[in-house]
Formats: sequence, structure tokens, C-alpha cells
Amino acid sequence: MTRLLIKHAQMVEQPEQLIDVLIEDEQIAAIGSSLAVSGVEVIDARGALIMPGLVDVHVHFRDPGQTDKETITTGSKAAARGGFTTVLAMPNVQPVPNTAATLHEMVIHNHEKGLVHIEQYAAVSAELTDQSINDLVGLAQTGAVAFSNDGKGVQSAATMLAAMKAAVKANRVISAHLEDNDLMGHGVVDQSVADQLQVAGIDPLAETSQLARDLVLAQATGAHYHVAHLSTKNGVELVRLAKLHGVHVTAEVTPHHLLLDTTAIHTRKDVNLKMNPPLRTPTDRAAVVAGLLDGTIDMVATDHAPHTVADKAGDMVSAAFGITGLETCFPLLYTHLVRPGIATLAQVQRWLNQAPAKAFKLSAPTTIRVGQKADLALFDLEHAHTIQADEFASKSVNTPFIGEKVYGMTVATIVDGQLVYRAD
Ligand SMILES: [Zn+2]
Repeated sequence: MTRLLIKHAQMVEQPEQLIDVLIEDEQIAAIGSSLAVSGVEVIDARGALIMPGLVDVHVHFRDPGQTDKETITTGSKAAARGGFTTVLAMPNVQPVPNTAATLHEMVIHNHEKGLVHIEQYAAVSAELTDQSINDLVGLAQTGAVAFSNDGKGVQSAATMLAAMKAAVKANRVISAHLEDNDLMGHGVVDQSVADQLQVAGIDPLAETSQLARDLVLAQATGAHYHVAHLSTKNGVELVRLAKLHGVHVTAEVTPHHLLLDTTAIHTRKDVNLKMNPPLRTPTDRAAVVAGLLDGTIDMVATDHAPHTVADKAGDMVSAAFGITGLETCFPLLYTHLVRPGIATLAQVQRWLNQAPAKAFKLSAPTTIRVGQKADLALFDLEHAHTIQADEFASKSVNTPFIGEKVYGMTVATIVDGQLVYRAD
């Protein structure tokens, strides 16, 4: 029997009182102010924050197909180091999980190699194109947690309409990467800074035109429609309006769209500021922050997108889109939103645990209670830490946050009662 005793931890709900948590087998066996148990492994939290393990509904683990960038093993180590105990992996891998057979292999592989719970998205349509809708009901029965063509936008309204009807039958969320191919063109940064950098720009309408289309389709079908990485002011307003009209819509925003905007981009060499959707204007950034704070945006998701050094080489035109996010997410939100008093820890817990668990109907625990599955994370809120390139558990280190001073690094992560990460 695995037994673990966490001493002197601080809960979000009662920060003034330090508590102990005893874990036996996979569950929380006792919670008290000074538990005395002999013969157990003890973690002295020294006042660290304890939270239900974080949940990220948007990660790219590149496995199978691009394991030079990340694998299930390294991706889940990165998740554990970030305090995430459940992640949802996107289906833009090779082969794409279009069929039950392919998906089944991935589900088994994720389970065997994952240090944390890795739920798998299946593709909405064949090869992430608009060719034909996959058998969403069959894929759901095989274990698809939800559906997405992430990395690609669904171009045709007819395809999205058929996909939503199928998602209703499958009783699963459909998550949309919004990108109109014609409006996107060969753009690499937000339209507003394209001229200055002398590169092609991405029109924000590439996001919002599809979003407006999808919201009326969601209203017509009753599908649960989820907006991946919402990045624009107009997009926030569309989601707000749709919610007022009773459309079943949820939305996520990334840490980088909350904390960075186009003013961070100084040259076309800033390749770790190249992602899709791109960093937007300060006005857009203020709107996604406000949307998150007022509940229009439900959750934060990292869009963890590892790339090799070679793939990120060159400039804004040649470098791949995307940055890693799992290992910096909680510290960045804590440092930039909680410490300055913009948000509370309870809100962060909602965005990174309760809201994603509820929206995607996950079994991930959302409170800390006796009898509950022990998926837990501990964060050090007291000591400053400088993010360094050589400390990442991910196979890739493509992040613009290297060198940044943060608070809230993970102390330990526990999955099913097992210690899967502990800081040195
Ligand atoms: Zn995407």
C-alpha cells in the first residue's frame, strides 16, 4: 500500500491554517491539523499551497509522428512539473486518430507511457481536412474525450454543422481552432504589426468570422461548442453575446494571450513570440483578461506546442508556430494575476481545475476531501524563481518566458496517490 503524508500545506479556502493530508493507496485518507502517522513517506510542504491537480484541455504531445519534439513520456513529465495531473492531447499527430483502431492504440499508449492522466481528442474530420466527418459516436465509444481539428480550422459551414450534429449524438464537446484559410493566407503575426516587421499579417477576422458562424451553428444544433485559444476582443464579445442567448459555449485562453501582446515583438527574429493564433494588440489582450475575469472565458489552457531548435530556427517567416506552456502556466498566472491583486487563487483554481473538469465531464477531482482520488499539486508561493532553459522536463524549450522571475513553482505533484514530480 502506498502511503504518503503531506505536512503543513495551505489550502486555497483557508490560507490561515496549515493542514496535513494523508494519502493511502490512491485516495485521500485523512485531513487534519497535525496528523501523526508512522512509517510513511513525508513531504514537508512548509506552507506551500495545495490544490487539486491542474487540468489542461489543450496540449500537443506530438506522439505518434513527431517524437523528436515531444513524447508521451516527456510531455507528461512536463505536465507533472507544471502541477497538471490531467491533460487533453490534441489529435494533430501522425497518424491522425480518424478511426477507432488508430485512436485505441493512442489511448493505450497514453495510458502506458503517461505519468499523468492523458485524455485523447479524436479528429473531427478525416486528416483534419473538410473531406469527410469521422464516426464521432464510434470514436467516443473508443475513448475520445472530445473532438477537434486543432491546428486547422474547419473551413466549411456544412462540415461544422454535420460535426456538431454528430458531436451531440456522441455526447462530447467539439473544440474549434478558428482559422479561415483564405483570411489567414501566409500570415505569421497579427495584422497590426505585419507592416512594421515586413511580413504577412494574420487578419483577426480569420478567427472571428468562423467564430460567429460556429456560434449560430451551435445554437441551431444544441452542441457543446468550445472555443480553443480565444485571442481577440471581438471574439470575446461574440462569446459573451452567445452565452446571453443560451448557446452552449465555453472558451479557453492561453497564458501567453493573457500576458503578452504585439508590443512584445520588436524584430522578426523574436521567433518564440510566433504562435497561432498570434499575439494580438494591447486592446485584445485587455479584452481576454477582462473576459476571463468576468466569466465569459471559462478556463485557461496552455496550447503546449513543443518544437525542436531546428523547427524554431530562422525568423518569423520560417520558424514554426507555437510555444511550450505546461511548466510555466501556474507560476505566470500566479505572478502576474494573483500577486498584483487582479485575480484570486480561487479564480485560478477554477480556471485550471474546476471549469475544465466540468466542461469536459472529466473524473478529475475538483476539491480536496477525504475519500477522493489523490490527484494533487503543491506550489511554492514564497520564493522567487528565474525560469531557465536547462530546467525543462519537456523535450523542447521554445518559450519566450526564459529569464523571467516568477513565484509559484511546483513543489510536488501526485497522481493516483503516487508522487510523480518533486522539486529538488
Ligand atoms: Zn490551435
